[in-house]
Amino acid sequence: MRTILLLHTGGTLGMMPSGDPAALAPGRFLDHLLEQVPELGQMAKLSVEVPFNQDSSCLEPEHILALATRVRAEAQAVDGFVIIHGTDTMAFTASCLGFLLADLGKPVVLTGSQRPLAFVRSDARSNLVNAVDLACRGIPEVGICFGTHWIRGVAADKLSVHQFEAFQSPNLPPLAEIGAEVRLHPEVGQFVRQVPPDLGDRLDLAIHTLTPHPGMAWYPAPHGARAILIQAFGAGNLPMGREDLRATLEDARERRLPVVVISQCPYGGVDLSAYEMGRRIEEMGAISGGLHTRWAALAKLGLVLGAGGGINEVREAFGVRWAGEPMPEGAWAQA
Ligand code: ASP
Repeated sequence: MRTILLLHTGGTLGMMPSGDPAALAPGRFLDHLLEQVPELGQMAKLSVEVPFNQDSSCLEPEHILALATRVRAEAQAVDGFVIIHGTDTMAFTASCLGFLLADLGKPVVLTGSQRPLAFVRSDARSNLVNAVDLACRGIPEVGICFGTHWIRGVAADKLSVHQFEAFQSPNLPPLAEIGAEVRLHPEVGQFVRQVPPDLGDRLDLAIHTLTPHPGMAWYPAPHGARAILIQAFGAGNLPMGREDLRATLEDARERRLPVVVISQCPYGGVDLSAYEMGRRIEEMGAISGGLHTRWAALAKLGLVLGAGGGINEVREAFGVRWAGEPMPEGAWAQA
């Protein structure tokens, strides 16, 4: 039987209808799981840890880095990992772990649910069973198992607040379709790992993020910001006729702040050569985020900045597929 370490970090899945906090005490979580889903005990030799128990909207970089460290520490001892996580920021954690653990060589399966495990009508049971099943298969991917799909962490986004199919990877086919059988993508686990070796494990998230709308007033990035991430319109367009926008980009250039442009559209990504507005943004020094989700873009930026990188390192990072994230030149394994 495969050995799986299950790390419970909080979120809806473990919530109690009674609100009884004792039921969530670390020592009781495995009992609770096996009471509710006894088949887990037949699928794998499970051990459970509760590194923290938080609504995922409250997570800080330290939580994510602690998870990565814990997984690395146990990588030789177990066959795979399941991480139970709140859905709100699961895609961000999955993106960070996808980069940080790209070379782990073991499955890391994140899951959670829209309704607590203790509810009669819940997606938690099937998500857990599927996550443990995937973690037992030895496939070296960091991915989110939710509903009927397993999707790569660095390509994932939460697209529904209430549907059981809450996550998608809009620009990458799923790693697996989960139905009567588990249908794996033929190239699952086969991406080229190109995370810079000297990246380190600090996340600097002093990133000024902007989601523009028509008529928006533009201001220079606040003091202390180390980069700007703009979720531009469509293929990466902004109203370059606006003087305050040009002044914002000029200010970033003078302060040597990297400016990365991603798209507000979940499907497709940025192509700054497609329109005049995009070309003008590029002329002002902005970097295309291509098909990066905002979560993968933030994770990548956070890691580069955390390692002391600046504009050149950020530009390089967004031109390279670190860990199977979708890139404009092709959707799957090629480097
Ligand atoms: N607020 C919860 C969380 O992210 C939502 C969930 O788990 O579905 O922790």
